[in-house]
Amino acid sequence: MGENEPDSILVVTPHPDDSESGAGGTIARWCAEGKKVVLVVCTNGDKGTSDRSIKPEDLAKTREIETLNAGKVYGLAEVVFLRQPDQALEDSEDFREQIVRQIRTHRPRILLTAEPERRYLRHRDHAVAGRVALDAVFPYARDHLSYPEHLEEGLEPHRVEEVWLFRADEPDTYVDVTDYFETRQNALHCHLSQVGPRSKESDERSRARLAEIGEKYGVPLAEQFKRIKVFR
Ligand SMILES: [Zn+2]
Repeated sequence: MGENEPDSILVVTPHPDDSESGAGGTIARWCAEGKKVVLVVCTNGDKGTSDRSIKPEDLAKTREIETLNAGKVYGLAEVVFLRQPDQALEDSEDFREQIVRQIRTHRPRILLTAEPERRYLRHRDHAVAGRVALDAVFPYARDHLSYPEHLEEGLEPHRVEEVWLFRADEPDTYVDVTDYFETRQNALHCHLSQVGPRSKESDERSRARLAEIGEKYGVPLAEQFKRIKVFR
């Protein structure tokens, strides 16, 4: 990273709204601080509804628009849709190559993704997205002989310094998001198809959750993560 370049972060979210619910205050804070944040959305989210009148393909389109709207609220540098199938994300060569490509393209210092190893109740797509993102960081994105065709396209190997996991079973790092609650809620409620419009009640629920985490760390509102130092 050059001295005048902003710190850069790649967020790998299994479904379009997970990054908002899992780390929205942190993403809002990073963007406000001038960091370059790129969002990679793994699945098309076309199974995320209880409304039987919505066609999956229409839902997928709606969710892309919702995600782009949330991106504008934060001021994301870019949003990339990988359009893998919802509830059918696999640890495949194809998906791994997509993540390695995004790492080598955007060259982040930090990669933020979902905890892959939750013990009991977990969404399978989250487990796969988190695992593949970690595998992509080490060793695939580092080694020039992994996906050597990338070199021909000018995509050099890249070492991500840290991986941060949201919804982690054993968090060890927090971010004070007190000043970014408004932005977090506005971004979260761009996902109208998932969480409905913003309301006093939804704000109270979110605030209570973030306050419970904040209490652990001595700040009003916080989000917490498992932080893995990979390369220095
Ligand atoms: Zn999800």
